[in-house]
Amino acid sequence: MKIGAPKETSRGEARVALTPESAQQLQKLGHECLIEAGAGSLAGFDDQAYRDANVTVVESTQALFDDADVVIKVREPSSEEAERLREGQTLISFFWPAQNEAMLEKCRAKGATVIAMDMVPRISRAQKMDALSSMANIAGYRAVIEAGNNFGRFFTGQVTAAGKVPPAKVLVIGAGVAGLAAIGTATSLGAVVRAFDVRPEVSEQIESMGAEFLFLDFDNAQDGSESGGYAAPSSPEFREKQLECFRAQAPDVDIVITTALIPGKPAPKLWLEDMVAAMKPGSVIVDLAAEKGGNCDLTRPDERVVSDNGVVVIGYTDFPSRMATQSSLLYATNIRHMLTDLTPEKDGVIDHNMDDDVIRGATVTHAGDITFPPPPPKVK
Ligand code: NAD
Repeated sequence: MKIGAPKETSRGEARVALTPESAQQLQKLGHECLIEAGAGSLAGFDDQAYRDANVTVVESTQALFDDADVVIKVREPSSEEAERLREGQTLISFFWPAQNEAMLEKCRAKGATVIAMDMVPRISRAQKMDALSSMANIAGYRAVIEAGNNFGRFFTGQVTAAGKVPPAKVLVIGAGVAGLAAIGTATSLGAVVRAFDVRPEVSEQIESMGAEFLFLDFDNAQDGSESGGYAAPSSPEFREKQLECFRAQAPDVDIVITTALIPGKPAPKLWLEDMVAAMKPGSVIVDLAAEKGGNCDLTRPDERVVSDNGVVVIGYTDFPSRMATQSSLLYATNIRHMLTDLTPEKDGVIDHNMDDDVIRGATVTHAGDITFPPPPPKVK
């Protein structure tokens, strides 16, 4: 089959779904690879690097869609891209089917099969295709780098001839994939790191990374877990305790990184205006939940704002794209693993096995039907 990656069309998107490295792996599965001219340039892969990896460089988007059996992309398709799909063609990209019903119907009507990378079930066997975790890991790392770039002091404490420098104090709220990556990055830079999550099971992970878990004085300990390991909305009493804890932290911490999310809900507001006001001038807040409304009262999506008392609040929503080379390498590998499972005989033939939990879970349109939402996975 011919696997082709067009140039991403979303504004500011620098990632690409095929790298020279992933193309070579796809060729070992018996596939041919195509790329639209210039598609990898913002991620650091020029056309020659693809040619050197035996990838055919195609001059236009239309020619790529015409020639490819499987189109691989990062962002969900635009209307123009969906218009270009044809019957029997497969599209693999992030898709967010619950928020894109009209697009789902459009792809179904075109007769295309769509595999949504955001719908890959979060079971152990599918971790190698878990693009959400790949991108969350990068976002967590980059959040700390961005904070450092806006913070006027060292992360690590130092004793210098000119005097003693205290370490920066970092608070990470929400310890999922992004939060744990932020904790790991901040501790490795030498900061004193504290973290909080409503799921008590993460405390050990946090402590093993050298950070302090903030326990609340609350009868039901931290428990905000729901089945499947995801967070549930907190009770009003629990929330009050949590806010009380954050209020006590606000004057002491230098950097706050918030990542708290509850699947299918707006981001909970956890870092309120009065907490920002209580922080020291020059402190930095990076809100990784900005796209879902933000955890901080002052966050504005895609903006950097400075509060009246000189606290920088960063609400960028494109952290993975700001590290486009790394993101593309990991995302293209996730896609390649998906295609490995779709090519069981390694003979260049796609076998779209809807009895496979992972393939079934991620497939949102197939054979003229909408196949979203999927049934719950059988395997953990
Ligand atoms: P996420 O991005 O959905 O949420 C981020 C974190 O915010 C979560 O840890 C959540 O507990 C926390 N949170 C929610 N409300 C909060 C509040 N009020 N205060 C503080 N923290 C709050 O998380 P994620 O990275 O997608 O991970 C969610 C779950 O999925 C975790 O249990 C994780 O281990 C699991 N997971 C499993 C796999 C797998 O392949 N097995 C892969 C990735 C994630």
